[in-house]
Amino acid sequence: MLRVENLVKSFDGERRRRRAAATGATDRVFAVNDVSFTVHEGDMFTLLGPSGCGKTTTLRSIAGLERPDSGIIEVGGQALFRSLEGQRVLSVSANERGLGMVFQSYAIWPHMSVFDNVAFPLQVRKRGQRPGKREIAERVGRVLATMELDALAGRQATKLSGGQQQRLALARALVIEPPLLLLDEPLSNLDAKLRESLRYELKRLQRELGITSVYVTHDQTEALVLSSSVAVMRDGNIIQLGKPREIYQKPNSRFVAEFIGTSNFIPAKVEARDGERYSVATADGSLALNSTADLAVGTDVIVSIRPEAVDVSAVSRTGEIPNEWKGTVVTRAFLGEAVDHVVRVGEFEIRARGNPSVSIRPGTDVFVQLDPDKLSLVPVD
Ligand code: ATP
Repeated sequence: MLRVENLVKSFDGERRRRRAAATGATDRVFAVNDVSFTVHEGDMFTLLGPSGCGKTTTLRSIAGLERPDSGIIEVGGQALFRSLEGQRVLSVSANERGLGMVFQSYAIWPHMSVFDNVAFPLQVRKRGQRPGKREIAERVGRVLATMELDALAGRQATKLSGGQQQRLALARALVIEPPLLLLDEPLSNLDAKLRESLRYELKRLQRELGITSVYVTHDQTEALVLSSSVAVMRDGNIIQLGKPREIYQKPNSRFVAEFIGTSNFIPAKVEARDGERYSVATADGSLALNSTADLAVGTDVIVSIRPEAVDVSAVSRTGEIPNEWKGTVVTRAFLGEAVDHVVRVGEFEIRARGNPSVSIRPGTDVFVQLDPDKLSLVPVD
């Protein structure tokens, strides 16, 4: 449904803007630096990354609000933008792209009613493409019902709650039945509770309507909950692309492991390898794990493991499972739905998160068990 290939977009940097005339120096900021990805029909694809990594610029380029330096953008097989060396640039205007957009500041039209806000994008269509009055009323009614706003159709838009206003912004984007919906941090202006409930609502809607969407966020939980695929961006590049579970359980770099959730990092060296089965040496003994990374024996690596993939037990399971270390609990923290134990193993400490019914007093000797499928190898930065 969406193909983005080798997208590049740069801006004049600060220095250039301040001293442009004086030096003429080129100081370009590459907001998007050779980004490629494909979004399949019905998918919710998320661009996730810290502030300034190029998410919004990528989305705005797809929307036609930013003119890329080069690359290809296609929706449903139709080129919306194409700029390749030696070829004439093709760029369809934002209006003609006909994509649905919802941004952080939801910019509803305050002087209009809920109904009129949603009807407006249809009413301003060119003659010939504009539906009749009755069809507009039908389509608006349908979208308002989906968004559970039908009872509020006559109300002035400003007299809605924050969550209702955001649903209205979505309704307005959906009424044009866009082939692609672009969402830029649409929940970030809402309080935490509302954000969480709308997150699930958005997921349900996206599933029910099967609408292909590109979602921009710096909120990892939002990305994990909502997406069918996640692209983690850093400095204008996609550094990992995969299903939420893959990204979470098998981060390909320390950056991804740190940006998404918390991780334990254990320095190690590859000591043996058979295909995807690795044995790595750490200061406290060997670990067995599975990894698709292609690393030679002798390479220095970091083993990353999520706290919830570490088991702490009073009972040894040596012989049953491959990775078990002896340690001593140094701290324990009750988190409500879970309990964290920090266990000292030799020269490092490892964090484990588990069921709150298992709470072990600091000072207790325990066994730490690490699931080989949940250990991932990341390069040493
Ligand atoms: P955020 O989460 O803060 O919105 P982002 O990941 O969406 O960040 P972008 O807004 O795409 O990041 O910005 C990427 C880089 O491009 C940043 O360094 C930003 O300062 C720069 N940039 C974006 N728009 C412009 C512009 N119009 N002029 C100059 N630089 C820009």
